[in-house]
Amino acid sequence: MTRNLSRRDFLHVTGAAAFVSSRSPGESPTVSTTIEQSGAATAGMDGWFDGPMRWVQLTLVENDPGRFDPQFWLDYFRRLHADAATLSAGGIVAYYPTEIPLHHRSAWLGDGDPFGTLVAGCRALGMRVVARTDPHAVRDDVRVAHPDWISTTHDGKPLQHWANPDLWVTCALGPYNFDFMDRVHREIVTKYKVDGVFANRWAPQGGDCYCIHCERNFREATGAALPRTTDPRDPARRQFLEWRKARLTELWKKWDATVRDANPDARFIPNGPPDLKTAGELAAIQFTDNQARRGVTPPWNNGRRAKELRSVMGRRPIGGIFSVGLEEPYRWKDSVQSEPEIRLWVAEGTANGMRPCVTKFSGVLYDRRWLQPVERLYQWHFEHERYLRNEAPLARVALLHSEQTAAYHPGVATGDRAEDHMLGMYHALVEARIPFELVHEALLTPERLDQFKLLILADRAALSSEQCAAIRGYVGRGGSVLATFATSLYDETGRQRADFGLADLFGVSFAGQIQGPMQNSYLTLETDPETGRRHPILEGMDDTSRIINGVFRIEVRPSQPFPSPVTLIPSYPDLPMEDVYPRVSHTDTREVYLRTLGNSRIVYIPWDIDRTFWDVMCVDHGRLLRNAIRWAANEPPLVDVEGPGLLDVTAWRQRDSMTVHLVNLTNPMMMKGPLRETIPVGPQRVRVRLPPQTRAKRVQLLTAGTSPRVEESGNMLTVIVPSVDVHEVVAIDF
Ligand SMILES: [Zn+2]
Repeated sequence: MTRNLSRRDFLHVTGAAAFVSSRSPGESPTVSTTIEQSGAATAGMDGWFDGPMRWVQLTLVENDPGRFDPQFWLDYFRRLHADAATLSAGGIVAYYPTEIPLHHRSAWLGDGDPFGTLVAGCRALGMRVVARTDPHAVRDDVRVAHPDWISTTHDGKPLQHWANPDLWVTCALGPYNFDFMDRVHREIVTKYKVDGVFANRWAPQGGDCYCIHCERNFREATGAALPRTTDPRDPARRQFLEWRKARLTELWKKWDATVRDANPDARFIPNGPPDLKTAGELAAIQFTDNQARRGVTPPWNNGRRAKELRSVMGRRPIGGIFSVGLEEPYRWKDSVQSEPEIRLWVAEGTANGMRPCVTKFSGVLYDRRWLQPVERLYQWHFEHERYLRNEAPLARVALLHSEQTAAYHPGVATGDRAEDHMLGMYHALVEARIPFELVHEALLTPERLDQFKLLILADRAALSSEQCAAIRGYVGRGGSVLATFATSLYDETGRQRADFGLADLFGVSFAGQIQGPMQNSYLTLETDPETGRRHPILEGMDDTSRIINGVFRIEVRPSQPFPSPVTLIPSYPDLPMEDVYPRVSHTDTREVYLRTLGNSRIVYIPWDIDRTFWDVMCVDHGRLLRNAIRWAANEPPLVDVEGPGLLDVTAWRQRDSMTVHLVNLTNPMMMKGPLRETIPVGPQRVRVRLPPQTRAKRVQLLTAGTSPRVEESGNMLTVIVPSVDVHEVVAIDF
C-alpha cells in the first residue's frame, strides 16, 4: 500500500491526533472518527515514497565492477525484505556506460554495466530504485578542461581533495553542478527509469568557494563582493549564508525538474537539505545521514535526527542511513561495528519513526560479521511492519528546534554554546522518560503547536517578533511554556534586544547583566512560609535545602509577584579551602519563575540549567527539570514507565493501534561506544493513557513475542514488561 501526505495534509492529520489526546472523555469524538479524518487526508496523494519501509544503500568503489558479485547483494536484499535501494550510478565515478564527455567511467567497467545489472535485479524483487550520485570531486582531466568548475580557495587556488590528492573538489554552486551534473542526472533517469536520484555531498565541500562564478553570482544577487569573514554575527556572513542556501535551493529545484522531466514519478533527493525549512517545502522523502556515533555521543542522537527532520516533514517518510562500521574521524570505511552497538543505533531510529537504511561501501566484503545482525533487525522490522507504519506521534511535549539560533547566536560568552542547552534538555527529557517531539521555528502554526500541551524553549535565544507572537498565541490557546536562559533575548539575526521578546510571558525583564562563568554558586530550595510546604518542582529533594547552581545566569527584574521556590546563593571563593564559606548565605533573588495563566503554566529559568546539565550531569538538575516539565505540562502523562535503568520512551498511533517503544540505553558505554554487550533491564511497569473511548482489544510485546498481563482502569492501561534487552514495543490494538 502506498500513501503520501502533503504538508497541508500532515497538519490536518497531526491536528486530528491532538484532537484525540487533548479532549476529555464525554466530549471527544471516537477514535474511529479521527481515523476516518486522517484517511480522508491521505486521499489524492501521489507518489511512491511512503511505500518502502526498509531501505538498503550500496555504494560501489571504483574497482568493484567485474570483482563484486551482484547476485550476492540481490540475494541479501531479498533476505532483508528490503523494498527500496539506493545504488551508485555516477558523479565522481560512473558505474554504467555513460555517453557524457568527462563523466569518468570506472576504469574497471569494461563492457559491463553493474548499475544496470543491480537495477534490473532490484526491480525483479519488486524494489524501488534510487540512483546515487556524488558530485563533489573530479579528476585532473576535468580541471584541465574546465578550471572554472573547481572550488577556489580564498587565496585563488584550485582546491585539492583533502583525502585523495589525485582529485579536485568541485564548486557546488557553479556550472559543474548546474549544467554538467544536470546532464548526468538526466542521462541516468532517462536510461534506467529509476525512481529518484540521491546526491551525496552535493553542497559545498572543504570550505567556502571564491571561484569566478561564485564571485559573479554573489555580486549579481547582493551587489557586494564575497565576504571573507566567518563570524556568524557579521551581517555580511549572514548574507553569504542566506545566498548559499538560496543557491542550493535553486539547484535542488533544477535537478528535481530534470529528474521529473525524464520520469514524472521520480524525484531528486538531496543528502542533507540546504536547511530544514526548505526540506519541509520541497521534499517527498528525506534521509538522515547519521551513520553511527563517534566520540562522546549518546545513542539517542540517532532518534534526535529523526525528530529534527519530522519537525518539518511531518508524516512524510524519513529514512535513517546507518553504517555497520566505526564512524570515528579516522574513517575506517571497511570496518564492522559490534552487534549490540548496531542494534541500539537502529533501535533508536526505529523508535523515533525512522525507516532503516543500511549503507555499505564496497561491493567486495572484507569483514562479514555485520550481515546476520542486520538481517535479524530487518526481519524483525518486516514481521512487525504494521506497528511501525506510524500515523502520528502521541507526544504531548515539544522542544523548539531553532536553526537560526544555531547559525547566528554563538552564545553569550566563551563557554556558552546554544547547542549544549539543547543537548542538556534533550538528555533530561530522555532520562525523565517523557515522549517528546521537536517543533521547527518556521512552522509555529496553531495546527502544529496545539497538538502539544507544553513547548520547551531550551535557550532558544534568537527568535523573531513573529515567532514570539506565535508562542504568545499558543499560550493564549492553553499551551504551557518552559523557557531557559537567553530565550528570545536576541532577534532572528542574532542581534541582542533591550529586553526578552517574551518578557510579558515570563513576567520578568532583562536587567542588563549576564553573569558567568560562575564558580561555586548555589541555590536555596525554599519552603513556602504560608503553607510550610515545598513547591512540586522540588519533589524528591526533601533531604536538602541547597543544590548547586549553574555556570551562567541572566539577571532579571520581575514585573509582578512570584512564588520563591528557588533562590540564589552567590559565588564565593573556592580556594584556599579556609576561605570556602558563603559570604551571603541567603538572598531573595529567585532563580526559577513560575506563573499560571488559566490552563497554561509558564516556567522561566534564568540560568543555564540545561547547559550545565549537559556539562556536569548533576542529578539534582535533572530532577528539577523533570519536575518543572511535569508541573508545566499540567496534565496526567501519556505514558509513565517505572523501573530500573535509562530508557528512551516514544509513543505512536497507527491506523488501528498504538505503540509505546522502550529503548534500553542502560549501559556503561552509553556516552561513548561501542557497546560490548546488551544489559537487559526490567521489570518495567508501563502505564498508558488510551485515547478516549477506545478499548484495547489485544496487547503484545513485539520483541518478546508474548501477550503480557494487562490491567485496565478507566482509560489507563497497565502492562508489566518483564525485561527490555535493546528494544521492546508495547503494541495495543484497538
Ligand atoms: Zn564557486
